[in-house]
Amino acid sequence: MEADSDIKTTPRGFQCGLCNVNLPNQSSVDQHVKGRKHQTLRTVRSTRKTQERHSVFVSGITPLVSQSDVTEYFTQFGPVSDVVMDKDKGVYAIVQFAETESLQATLSRVEHQMGGLKLRVKPREKKDFKLIPKKNASQNLQQALERLKPPLCQLVSVNAQVQYVVERFQLGENEKKARGLLVQLLQEVFVEFFPDSQIQPFGSSVNTFGVHSCDLDLFLDLDNTKVFQAQAKSTAEQAGEGTSDDGRSEDSILSDIDLTSASAAEVLDLVAAILRRCVPSAHKVTVVGGARLPVVKFHHHQLNLQGDITINNRLAVRNTRFLQLCSGMDERLRPLVFTIRHWAKQKQLAGNPSGAGPLLNNYALTLLVVFFLQRCEPPVLPTVDRLRDMACEEEECVIDGWNCTFPSQPIAVPPSRNTQDLSTLLFGFFTFYAKFDFAGSVISLRQGRALPITDFLSQEQPEGEKPTKLHGPKLGPLSLLDPFDLSHNVAGNLNERSQRGFQRECQEADKYCRSLQYQRKSTKGKSWGLVRLFTPRGDVPQSPAEQLTISIPFKPASLPEALRDRLRAAGGGFRLPWFREVCCAVEGVLKGVLGCHLAPSADAAWGAESFVDAETSPGSLNASMNDSCDSVGSQGEGAGAAVAGAKRPLSSSSDAGESPEGKKPRLSKRRKPEPPHWICVQKHAVWAGRRRVRRELVKDSDSRPEGSCVALETKVTARIAEKEPELGGPLEVKVQPQVIGGTESTKAVLTLEPISDEAGVFHDFFHFLEAFLPKMVETFLEKDASDL
Ligand code: ATP
Ligand code: MG
Repeated sequence: MEADSDIKTTPRGFQCGLCNVNLPNQSSVDQHVKGRKHQTLRTVRSTRKTQERHSVFVSGITPLVSQSDVTEYFTQFGPVSDVVMDKDKGVYAIVQFAETESLQATLSRVEHQMGGLKLRVKPREKKDFKLIPKKNASQNLQQALERLKPPLCQLVSVNAQVQYVVERFQLGENEKKARGLLVQLLQEVFVEFFPDSQIQPFGSSVNTFGVHSCDLDLFLDLDNTKVFQAQAKSTAEQAGEGTSDDGRSEDSILSDIDLTSASAAEVLDLVAAILRRCVPSAHKVTVVGGARLPVVKFHHHQLNLQGDITINNRLAVRNTRFLQLCSGMDERLRPLVFTIRHWAKQKQLAGNPSGAGPLLNNYALTLLVVFFLQRCEPPVLPTVDRLRDMACEEEECVIDGWNCTFPSQPIAVPPSRNTQDLSTLLFGFFTFYAKFDFAGSVISLRQGRALPITDFLSQEQPEGEKPTKLHGPKLGPLSLLDPFDLSHNVAGNLNERSQRGFQRECQEADKYCRSLQYQRKSTKGKSWGLVRLFTPRGDVPQSPAEQLTISIPFKPASLPEALRDRLRAAGGGFRLPWFREVCCAVEGVLKGVLGCHLAPSADAAWGAESFVDAETSPGSLNASMNDSCDSVGSQGEGAGAAVAGAKRPLSSSSDAGESPEGKKPRLSKRRKPEPPHWICVQKHAVWAGRRRVRRELVKDSDSRPEGSCVALETKVTARIAEKEPELGGPLEVKVQPQVIGGTESTKAVLTLEPISDEAGVFHDFFHFLEAFLPKMVETFLEKDASDL
């Protein structure tokens, strides 16, 4: 059997030479050879072998020879199934026949003459099929860091390091020139087919944030072509030539398509065809039609760059101008964006390598930097509304109904009074987002503040529908409004995991920035400053032992309408009523569903006392990757005072910052004896064998996932309590609900602490609750109290 020949024995078990994996024992070998990877590679290998046996290698052709010329010539020896040309140099081809006999016939011919060319035909080289292991992403990131480390370490300050990052990564003058020439070439080609059309670069190639390998984003503006087409058509009709296509340019592509009625996908198919036919160095031309904005992608070999052509993308051209303006308004933005983009790349938080994905894209990340700079005290950048007011009449601009007005020149904008340096601002960025309440806020660059998410709950666009002005943005774990298209959440693609990852990395970076290692050059030649920030994710020593806390996420979209209305009515103070609901739900789960005896502490009224600053919390937020580093402590008048950061217990990062009672309670480390909590007593191991009991109860007729049904889970508990003996001694646990991050946070956390645990089951109980409680609380919250 062929699979057997791939498996070799080794001193430590077996190895599959095809898939390049080690296997410890025979049963894993058996599983492996039946597995998808092994089977797919076997199929690929056998297809390659067949291709090799059926094809010849042809040289001596010239770039003028086409694929069909080659096919036509070789068909005399038998049916040709494929011809692969070397498109760049155009000097060789691989011809694949449908039958092996054709191969013999071809090779036995002594001389091959094709249209005056003398061809050399050889059997195709047989190569061993080998799986070339890809370098994994983290190896690449580690290498990037190793290259950057020596020059960064020898600089004198973090400010100098940040500037170095710009020098090292920015697009060079020659690269910009080459891109400019390509744009010019494309313009000349497209105008042949689409008269009066215009191709405009946008995105990072021109918004001042471009790095060496960034893609080339292009907008093909066909508005003038539409006018041209309409005029040509009416001229033809007036000349009495009927409604035929005669009025349009004979050999123009416009004779095939009516631009006013054609779909974007149809137009992009034409664009792709033009690229394939007329731009020799454009490779891998593909139309991606399913995206929010359909796009034609291509790869330019000589320049080694990825190009994206869109139509209907005027807003992107305008937001590119906006970012250019921001760069011009304050020279600190550009170095900060370069550094934060590189940090996010190294931490695998941004980039979405294939274009789409659940990570932040660089545009969204840049807007987060701009927003932070709007929130600094005093602001580094003005709000988009203020910029609109600074523009003059000629600069007025409305696109697709959205006001996109701002001054065309940075000189029109008064300089910022903020004097913080790059090192402080970078630190401030991490502090700001480490504490930011993403779940409860919608970020508005227009207004330069975080709006309460409850304001948007009734405006959400129905699932699957195209966004319109009538609907609000698609809310998500990170809601970041486009500065112009206010119905668009530019981070709408993010999932919870990527949002959490972003915030966690901001928290880690924030802690690191407090250390001397960030702020001072090492005299012993050790890594310092940005180097540690750029260490790829996973390579940084992990936080010390996890604290026993359980987070209850804020998911406004799944709340019942009545509760949403109540939260909406509370405006910026919606977090307290929400927290109270969570406490009721937790109580319901522990007492009602899990049969615990629950005694609240004397003052368990769940008020503003439970809203604590991150630094005072007992939870995991303070677990530091940097505990060993010397803490710089107070940032003085720098980051702490100027950015919504470390020194303020309740950040002023949003106007929704009033406490639920309308005043801002100041919460300090030595504030109060103890926040409200419950003492929870459990006598049965209600976590043990739950799945089995649930299966017995529903008898497979209902496949409800765990935690989705209050009545069922209550029955499961009752059945366990009835059948199983009591624990060796009751488990007594203190459960303390809190909201970490002050009154602007929706980070609800339960801290569990064992008081009495004779049976030694506290950890089992905790791990069970960790998964069960958030789901069950969500189920509780989704229902109206009357349903329960
Ligand atoms: P890079 O290509 O270096 O990653 P970029 O800024 O060019 O950065 P792209 O993802 O290529 O980012 O997007 C190109 C441009 O398209 C952006 O600069 C922006 O103008 C626009 N754009 C990208 N994503 C969005 C979005 N989610 N919402 C609105 N406009 C966007
Ligand atoms: Mg781009």
